[in-house]
Amino acid sequence: MKDIATPSRTKEILAKYDFFFKKNYGQNFLIDTNILENIVSYADLTEESCAIEIGPGIGALTEQIAKRAKKVLAFEIDNRLIPILEDTLSPYDNIQVINEDVLKADVEKAIEEYLPNEKDIMVVANLPYYVTTPIIMKLLTEGLPIRGIVCMLQKEVADRISAKPGTKDYGSLSIAIQFYTHASTVMTVPRTVFMPQPNVDSAVIKLIKRDQPAAEVIDETFFFEVVRASFAQRRKTLNNNLLNNLPLLKKDKSKLEACLEEAGIEGTRRGETLSIQEFATLSNNLYKSLK
Ligand code: SAM
Repeated sequence: MKDIATPSRTKEILAKYDFFFKKNYGQNFLIDTNILENIVSYADLTEESCAIEIGPGIGALTEQIAKRAKKVLAFEIDNRLIPILEDTLSPYDNIQVINEDVLKADVEKAIEEYLPNEKDIMVVANLPYYVTTPIIMKLLTEGLPIRGIVCMLQKEVADRISAKPGTKDYGSLSIAIQFYTHASTVMTVPRTVFMPQPNVDSAVIKLIKRDQPAAEVIDETFFFEVVRASFAQRRKTLNNNLLNNLPLLKKDKSKLEACLEEAGIEGTRRGETLSIQEFATLSNNLYKSLK
């Protein structure tokens, strides 16, 4: 039998089930086996690895993962796809599909139930583009026992996630993700390999979780508040953004100046020039001075 991802087999499956795409679920299915194999290869799976997939669709990527991993656990929101997946994935006995919105799901409990005591778990996915950031942040902040994430998403978001300080794409999203992971864009993907074709370019990113966050911070929530405030208006300086957007400062300029000076950071710099370490030092100083 041909792979699910071949254009002819995909068309056959869609026709057999009278399936129509739901735009609000971000349904753009991959129809190129080479691209799928490449995505899976970036996950560095061994026969002992397990994978979690978000949004299996009709099983194009699931099939390629199942050929290489010990077990696959997949979350699919659209109940119309469940009977289709039962059919298309019937040759494989190492796949568990859960019909749930991954943003509402208890992923940790599902791992305990379906992937107990597994040593190597990677998330591999072609994400629904309307919710890429919330899904990635959920997976990274819930303390799940995963090694990392390899996923397809909009190229523009991929660029922001893997951006380095001093570049136009560097911002609070880069810091939020790089705080927890080593992030890189590993592949760009043309629109032509999707059905239907999306109206944005796509890319694959690889996020490998760090053993420890990228910098030591006293209070993570406050650290991210400082980061967000520093980028509130990109063209403005740290002085300006922090005074106007960090409520706890109560516009106290002298306190801000003291904390910046102690951190060795000029208040005339813009947020986009600060490394994660510099943001950590600054937020720790502000925390000690204000809380
Ligand atoms: N993996 C398939 C492929 O590569 O061809 C489909 C990828 S498609 C871009 C995104 C998939 O995610 C769709 O099947 C969609 O129904 C599903 N989806 C959308 N939102 C979801 C959510 N919140 N939780 C779980 N699945 C979701």
